[in-house]
Amino acid sequence: MASKFVYKMFQEYYNRDFRLENPPEQIGSREFGFVLFSEGVVRHKKFNTKDELTAFLQKFIPLDAYYSCAYYENPEADMEKKGWLGADLIFDIDADHIPTMCEQLHEEWICSNCKFSGKGRVPKNCPLCSGEKFEVKTWPCETCLASAKHETVKLLEMLMRDFGFSKDDIHVFFSGHRGYHIHVECEDVKELDSIARKEIVDYVSSLGLEISIHAPILKSLEKKQNFGRNIKFLSSGWSQRLFLGLQNFLKKAKEEDLRNIGLKKDTVNIIMNNKDLILRGLRELEKLPTVRGLGSETWRKIMEHVVMLQSAKIDTVVTTDIHRLIRLPETLNSKTGLKKVEFPISDIDRFDPFREAVAFKKGVVEVKVSSAPKFRLGDEIFGPYKNERVELPASAALLLVCRDRAEVVE
Ligand SMILES: [Zn+2]
Ligand SMILES: [Zn+2]
Repeated sequence: MASKFVYKMFQEYYNRDFRLENPPEQIGSREFGFVLFSEGVVRHKKFNTKDELTAFLQKFIPLDAYYSCAYYENPEADMEKKGWLGADLIFDIDADHIPTMCEQLHEEWICSNCKFSGKGRVPKNCPLCSGEKFEVKTWPCETCLASAKHETVKLLEMLMRDFGFSKDDIHVFFSGHRGYHIHVECEDVKELDSIARKEIVDYVSSLGLEISIHAPILKSLEKKQNFGRNIKFLSSGWSQRLFLGLQNFLKKAKEEDLRNIGLKKDTVNIIMNNKDLILRGLRELEKLPTVRGLGSETWRKIMEHVVMLQSAKIDTVVTTDIHRLIRLPETLNSKTGLKKVEFPISDIDRFDPFREAVAFKKGVVEVKVSSAPKFRLGDEIFGPYKNERVELPASAALLLVCRDRAEVVE
């Protein structure tokens, strides 16, 4: 994959356009790691200044560059001797963890054993040889990235509203491939151990959330007793999130949506016929309204769906790993040739990864494309391509070569 063309492009980027405007805080206490074109993985590096780091990048031209979320006494030492001082709190939201409808259009897999290949979601077993290992060709698709952004928005809201982090403590980045990174940097999080971070993960992803605590009326319906019937949704935290999420879901829900969460036809009819009444009841009473024909089981199914809609789908392992290496901002992602870029939280709605992360604005390259879905970079739309030679802007050619979908015509 690491072709001469990729090396040439990366070299050009690091020596001409690369600027590390916001290097990691306390740079001298961080461990750096790289995947280099020839030497492969290099870890346990330390840089005292951003100039030292920049000089290294310009000389060694990494395929990928990472730094530790952790702060160490001796970043260069072996893991046990590093002297862990603390770590930023980081979140990784990757489209790979979010089911989308477009996978059918852009995912390709090849059985590692018999080379049988197919499109769409990767099967559990190869249809030909029952093998379980596959090479997967994913794609940084707009729809996938839009869903990743939606998850990011939910997470940011929880971090600010429920945990009380300020905007200044939170940095949001496009990863350069299929997702977003959120770094929380402040004294309050630094010393949290892995277990404390797991608590935060559980909170944002709603693991172990007991619905009847937030809607006690469910328990009273189940046990046919009055306890908790009059307790309202709280005005903060998950309780409020469920309260608003429930209204939102019901307002937009069509018959089909209600059927899809496992409700029977009669129940769906009751909800559709009483929608306004239910919504008004919810707003006025701030608890689940009593409606003839809607029992605890129905409400539980609806609420479970709302919990799923409201939780943030994060890669949990990244957040709990207090030694994690994460991609260095402003460096290129070898999976795409796009940059990891930061943007202000307030810009999240209009942030366009396929514009802001493009590293090369000039030049054209002729490539032979094996296959590629339709895609966009900046204002230009490309493809779909199938076994054809095309002349493309350098950034588009680089994306295809990095995704292993094309080769440069020499
Ligand atoms: Zn196979
Ligand atoms: Zn997609």
